[in-house]
Amino acid sequence: MNLNELTIRQAREGLDNGDFSSVDLTKACLDRINERNGKINAFITVTEKQAIAEAKEADKKIKKGEAELLTGIPFATKDAINVVDIRSTGGGKILDNYISPFESTVISKIRSEGAVMVGKTNCDAFGHGASNENSMYGPVKNPYDLERVAGGSSGGSAAAVADNMCIFSIGEDTGGSIRQPASLCGISGLRPSYGRNSRYGIMPMASSLDTVGPFAKNVEDVALLMDVMAGQDNKDATTVSDAVPKYSEEIKKSVKGMKVGVPKEYFELEGMEDETKEIVMKQIQDLKNLGVELVDVSLPYIKYAVAVYYIVVPSEDSSNMGRLDGIRYGVQAEGKNLYDIYAKSRAQGFPEEVKRRIMIGTYALSAGYYDAYYKKAQKVRTLIIKDFERVFESVDCIVAPTSPFPAFKIGEKKDDVLAMYLADVCTCPASVAGIPGLSVPSGNTKLGLPVGLQIMGPRLGEAKVLQLGHAIQIS
Ligand code: GLN
Repeated sequence: MNLNELTIRQAREGLDNGDFSSVDLTKACLDRINERNGKINAFITVTEKQAIAEAKEADKKIKKGEAELLTGIPFATKDAINVVDIRSTGGGKILDNYISPFESTVISKIRSEGAVMVGKTNCDAFGHGASNENSMYGPVKNPYDLERVAGGSSGGSAAAVADNMCIFSIGEDTGGSIRQPASLCGISGLRPSYGRNSRYGIMPMASSLDTVGPFAKNVEDVALLMDVMAGQDNKDATTVSDAVPKYSEEIKKSVKGMKVGVPKEYFELEGMEDETKEIVMKQIQDLKNLGVELVDVSLPYIKYAVAVYYIVVPSEDSSNMGRLDGIRYGVQAEGKNLYDIYAKSRAQGFPEEVKRRIMIGTYALSAGYYDAYYKKAQKVRTLIIKDFERVFESVDCIVAPTSPFPAFKIGEKKDDVLAMYLADVCTCPASVAGIPGLSVPSGNTKLGLPVGLQIMGPRLGEAKVLQLGHAIQIS
């Protein structure tokens, strides 16, 4: 096995036993990036020199016996997450020259353990998309088939882990941007509950839905990363003070007797492909071999989740995108006057999809339409939240497909906006409700494309979700 293919647990053991150094491990990842990134386009920025310097520091720490969980382990992060003194474009040309003066809390937590950052990954501009085709740095290709998308918006982070360019990565999930690319690239990825991990330093898209979470080669690694990332942060007032369980211990518990809800509505959502449905259903039936009790449950309102999402998100988005104006940060276009500078900077610096969201959001929030769209969407959002709360009174977790279909061809949906929005049908419900969702590989289609199973839990119920995901992977 090549070093870059290791999991966190395996890399930790190897480093601590002196089988290899962090420099060896980091070089293995950088070699893989040099070999493959030209084809996959997973990285916008590769921080090669800094990575080697960080690896040397990590090796000193390991030698002194001071290693923590992530010391010396190479990772990558989505470019929409700020890392101090590193170019952070967020996938949009308006920030092409932006060097972040500060760092997101989750990245600081990871780096303060001595993890080695190998680079910033490609993503749909500021999180807008489900295929990475809205990145202004070109689409990310799926490692399973280079003619297909890696998913979005955190497609670069997913492809980098799936293609062994790093040991783990960090992404951001508003409507599915961790779960869907994890599913399409055949790896594990967790969207935590809203408020569990700090959003400080994440480029905001829709502030009441944005979350930040890990991608890894298995659920055990996801749990280990959540041990490091989760918790209250005084820089993010929406983080909660509830105690953080030791996820890596919780996952070891038996799932015997766990009640797992199977909501039929997910399997009837628009665009759900038969092959995906069959692969996921088969895996759900196999859960019985783990001693899990399957319970039929009903979530009648989730069919409205995409509609709610595409009103609430653009509304918050139109405000968040307002800060990118060519004056405060990033690239400023030449213009005759202030208005002209704003207009040209934004016209050149945003892709079509971001402009579309700004227009939809501005419209939905305008005085004449606020009640008809925004307020109504918020009311239905509450019904979806209540739907989940009711179901979680009788089950521990819910299982469903992560995506209605496997990776699609690059270009296939790009010009059909609604078809692209429907890529989020299975992930939007948990996003709108603020609950956690984990995607784990469930099987492959006849064409060899990965399909993911989505495990959801009640708010702050990550431990049970990870427990079930881990039990599936070690069975
Ligand atoms: N595809 C969704 C969107 O375009 C997901 C975005 C996200 O989670 N950042 O809004």
